[in-house]
Amino acid sequence: MTLPDAAYETPVALRTGRRFTMADVVAMSESFEGCHPQEVIGWAVEEFGARLSLSASFADTLLIDLAVGVHPDVEVVFIDTGFHFAETLATVRRAMVRYSLNLTVLRPLPTAADLWAHGTDTCCGSRKVAPLERHLVANADAWMSGLRRDDSPTRANAPIVDLDLRGLVKINPLAGWSSSEVKQYILANDVLINPLAADGYPSIGCWPCTEPAEASDPRAGRWVDSQKTECGLHS
Ligand code: SF4
Repeated sequence: MTLPDAAYETPVALRTGRRFTMADVVAMSESFEGCHPQEVIGWAVEEFGARLSLSASFADTLLIDLAVGVHPDVEVVFIDTGFHFAETLATVRRAMVRYSLNLTVLRPLPTAADLWAHGTDTCCGSRKVAPLERHLVANADAWMSGLRRDDSPTRANAPIVDLDLRGLVKINPLAGWSSSEVKQYILANDVLINPLAADGYPSIGCWPCTEPAEASDPRAGRWVDSQKTECGLHS
C-alpha cells in the first residue's frame, strides 16, 4: 500500500521547538520594522505551527481578521474574567459566526481573587494573567497580541517580536501600525468592532475597570483614578 504524501509529514505539533535568545528576537523584530502585519503573522505561523496562540480582547477583530487571512485555524484565546461587558461577549459570538474561529476560552479558577475584595492588581493577576500563563506554558511556544505603540506612551517602544517573562516568544504584529492605518484596514475589510467603541470606549477591558475616554488617549479610561496602566499580560 502506498501512503499519501501527507502521511509522511511530521505533525506540526511534534516539531522540535527552536529556542530563541533575546538577541534573536531583537534582530527579528528589527527586520520586521515597516513590514505588513501579515508578513509577521506568516513568519510566526511557519515558525511555531500549532504552538502559536493569539490572545484577543474583542475590542475589535483586527488582529483576528489579519491572522485568519494567513492561517484560518490559528488558535484564538479569549480570557473570560467573569467581568466582561455584555457587548464584548456579543462581539465574541459575532466573531465565531464570521470567522469560524478555533477559539479557546480561558477562565479563572473558582477560587480566583476579585477586585472588590483583593484589589485590582491581584484580581488581574488571578483572572487574566494566571489563566493565560497556564494555557501558554502548557500549549504554546509563542503568542500574538494586538498591542500597538499608538495605544499609550507606555507602549511607545513595543517591539514587534519579544520574549516574555516566561521565555515565550511574544509577537505584536500591529506594533508599528498607526491609528490611521488601523482605521483604513478596518473600513476596507469590514472588521467587527465592539459596539462600546461607538459609545466612547476606545479601549475595552472589564466593566468595573473601564470608562469612556478621549480617542487621543485611548487607555485613559482603564483603571481610572489609579496608577495602574496595564493588567500584566504584556509584562
Ligand atoms: S480589569 Fe478589573 S475586573 Fe478585570 S481582571 Fe483586572 S482588576 Fe479584575
